[in-house]
Amino acid sequence: MKKILITGGAGFIGSHVVRRFVTRYPAYQIVNLDALTYAGNLENIADIEHLPNYRFVKGDITDVDFIMAFFQKESFDGVIHLAAESHVDRSITDPLAFVRTNVMGTMNLLNAARALWGNVKEGKRFYHVSTDEVYGTLGETGLFTETTPYAPNSPYSASKAASDHFVRAYGETYGLPYVITNCSNNYGPNHFPEKLIPLFIHNIIHNRPLPVYGDGNYTRDWLYVLDHAVAIDLVFHAGKNHETYNIGGFNEWKNIDLVRLLCEKMDVKLHREPGTSAQLITFVKDRPGHDLRYAIDAGKINRELGWQPSVTFEEGLEATIDWFLTHEEWLSHVTSGEYQRYYEAQYMNS
Ligand code: NAD
Repeated sequence: MKKILITGGAGFIGSHVVRRFVTRYPAYQIVNLDALTYAGNLENIADIEHLPNYRFVKGDITDVDFIMAFFQKESFDGVIHLAAESHVDRSITDPLAFVRTNVMGTMNLLNAARALWGNVKEGKRFYHVSTDEVYGTLGETGLFTETTPYAPNSPYSASKAASDHFVRAYGETYGLPYVITNCSNNYGPNHFPEKLIPLFIHNIIHNRPLPVYGDGNYTRDWLYVLDHAVAIDLVFHAGKNHETYNIGGFNEWKNIDLVRLLCEKMDVKLHREPGTSAQLITFVKDRPGHDLRYAIDAGKINRELGWQPSVTFEEGLEATIDWFLTHEEWLSHVTSGEYQRYYEAQYMNS
């Protein structure tokens, strides 16, 4: 039996990874470690809480003593590390929080895995989940590959880049068996409504302005979160040690085109006149250091592991909108309290 630690499993992507592993691999013991920050929500995984091969532990990866003792006690075979501060805008206002969680937290997990596994590599794996934002920005053409030099532009991407480097360095220096994946923008159920797609769905429902940064010509490559979870499963089981794999949706959209598409779909879903939601689009002051374009070449994971997205963007977006329209209670829970204050500071004064 394998015992696997998944960090950040109450968050957006982590919840889908936890659900996939718990339900697909009943012989594994899955331990979900999450500090339940503003972004962590146990409602995201309430449906699998009762399963015998699943356990939740509330804990903070920045707490070095706790993490060391936790690894010694639990004796994990594998780690899938997703816990992070994940929002670029928050990293601009509080960069240190990102260093603490994304860099120091990852260091604590690396040290604990090293102390636990020693020189044993067989049957052990440290999987670090990362972002394509570490590569910086592209111009109008080209794609990020696994060999694109790192050039992070935001405190968020710098902290993720630093953590990627430490994971790689622990592999080279101490022989830690690791894999890293760098993935493009995800969307789907459980997405916290500070990020573009869920924020705009929420705002359209409530007839609030849709704040589009700058001229809206920023390009992102969007991937349905369940397809990311499938890729993580594949890389965890079949990826090669000491390798990086890029994961992307082959699905580039300029922000403004994506917002217009979303508005059209929401008009239909909400039985509003065509063009109603688009009237909410408001161009706001640009984000500092805003990367123009991200696009992933996911050829390596496709060739070596046979992965490709299973849904089109149209299908994924429809499913996402339907999920948000049928989970009003979830939305109202996460949009109250701390999030509400953040939202007002971020978008009401611009
Ligand atoms: P999220 O913000 O939705 O979830 C992060 C989770 O980590 C939350 O449950 C939070 O409570 C937990 N957490 C935060 N600090 C913690 C700490 N100190 N100790 C323990 N738990 C803590 O993030 P997400 O969008 O699901 O991203 C998950 C991972 O995937 C991150 O590492 C992120 O960098 C990476 N990633 C995200 C995207 C994306 O589009 N969202 C794309 C590529 C990679």
